[in-house]
Amino acid sequence: MIAEEKTISSELVFKGKIVEVRVEKAKLFDREVMRELVLHNGGVCVAAFTDDDEIILVKQFRYAFKEALLELPAGKLEAAEDHYSAGLRELAEEVGAVPDEYEYLGVLYPSVAYLTEKIHIYYAKSLHFGETHFDEDEYIEMVKIPFEKAVEMVLANEIKDAKTAAGILMIAAKRSKK
Ligand SMILES: [Mg+2]
Repeated sequence: MIAEEKTISSELVFKGKIVEVRVEKAKLFDREVMRELVLHNGGVCVAAFTDDDEIILVKQFRYAFKEALLELPAGKLEAAEDHYSAGLRELAEEVGAVPDEYEYLGVLYPSVAYLTEKIHIYYAKSLHFGETHFDEDEYIEMVKIPFEKAVEMVLANEIKDAKTAAGILMIAAKRSKK
């Protein structure tokens, strides 16, 4: 059985630049339950391919894990920003590429228990390369990996970022259906 929870109250605990933390009370049948939430505007990532069928990943140090991770080029959305154009912007900024083909694959919920972030994912190919424009504090290395190897790296757990693993496996599954 699925029981819907209705919000009774919401208290702002912290407001940062990227997230807002709230503690909310919700009604579950005749009970009140407490829910801790991290609110986030959401993001977009792009699985972009070279003409040689290499997928373009970016490697960057992620402070939360104290580790350099391989990821799809991605960025967060400004409030009410449309994810289609935000994806094109991130691809241009981080990879310096503009695609001729650009297709929506879907939306991912990276952590469903407490985080409101949604990540939209796009597929891009027929790329034209120009200059990159990184955000301040963004130190990124671009890595091109043959797609089959990228799939192996997900299966070997060498690619641990959720959006990246999901995107690679979605594309692999789509291709295997053809
Ligand atoms: Mg980024």
